[in-house]
Amino acid sequence: MPEESLVVVRDGDVEKWACLACPGGCGKMIALSLNPSRRPKWHVTLDFWNRPTLKPSVHQLNECGCHFWITNGTIDWYPGRRRTNSRGAI
Ligand SMILES: [Zn+2]
Repeated sequence: MPEESLVVVRDGDVEKWACLACPGGCGKMIALSLNPSRRPKWHVTLDFWNRPTLKPSVHQLNECGCHFWITNGTIDWYPGRRRTNSRGAI
């Protein structure tokens, strides 16, 4: 599995975490809670080709500061915060 892929961690039938390496250049692992009883939480859906769509957007609060969405496996950068060293897709 490519390192830039988004990985959904499941516990039985429950989706717990969506993990991906930050596409903004810092490469840190981002773990997003999919647990509906937690806040904040995210929602991942996969299309026919297993391309992830992630909602809502991800905003890194570290020095990287990147802010993006993932739609059908493609990263869309928040306007004004686009990183020049991004790979553009996962
Ligand atoms: Zn980053």
